[in-house]
Amino acid sequence: MATSRTDEIAAGLAETRERIATAAKAAGRPAEDVQLVVVTKFFPASDVRILAGLGVTDVGENRHQEASAKAAECADLGLRWHYIGGLQSNKAAAVAAYADVVESVDRASLLPRLSRGAGERGQILDVLLQVSLDPPGREGRAGADPGDVRDLAAAVVETDGLRLRGLMAVAPLGEDPEPAFVRLARIREDFLVEYPEATVLSAGMSGDLEQAIAHGATHVRVGSAVLGQRPTVK
Ligand SMILES: *Cc1c(COP(=O)(O)O)cnc(C)c1O
Repeated sequence: MATSRTDEIAAGLAETRERIATAAKAAGRPAEDVQLVVVTKFFPASDVRILAGLGVTDVGENRHQEASAKAAECADLGLRWHYIGGLQSNKAAAVAAYADVVESVDRASLLPRLSRGAGERGQILDVLLQVSLDPPGREGRAGADPGDVRDLAAAVVETDGLRLRGLMAVAPLGEDPEPAFVRLARIREDFLVEYPEATVLSAGMSGDLEQAIAHGATHVRVGSAVLGQRPTVK
């Protein structure tokens, strides 16, 4: 018998929620400590609608045009939209028009444009600073250098319309995520001394959410484990 898309997504979601609960328990934390953000990039708005029907509250997207169209199509669902992709300066204001959280802020030059976008929308925009866990010089490195996080945080706090909520990171590709998440936890510890209210730590994806939760993640960004394999990126 053919499985419906809803059944498929429900199964992936149940399994993912179970993994999160188990990892949280192992870390001595309540499962409610960890917010699931389902990454819907490359998947249609109809999947987003199914997710909302299954109780998902937060979704993540990484490409502006796709995200913008999907957020408009799903505006009635009351979801929180997380922008998790690389940000071009000339798109930053437009992203702030639909995103509730921008997780990938990695340089101060984005801030005036994000602020303008949030102002035009008449809403405060939640911001995470993306910290790079890659060695310097690695190709395709995304995120701010850990040494630049302090200055970047100070700049966010000084910008109207933005609220500093915490940090985000992606473990280096093709390596054991464990040492990277250990470094991240240390960076966060220092960060929290100065910004004790910016408690969000967005880390962990389909392949490494257990390790991320063990090292303090409050948000996991999970795509393929919930929705299935994405079409190969061109
Ligand atoms: C695509 C993506 C994810 C989700 O990846 P999966 O391995 O499918 O869970 C998480 N974070 C970022 C920044 C992404 O671009």
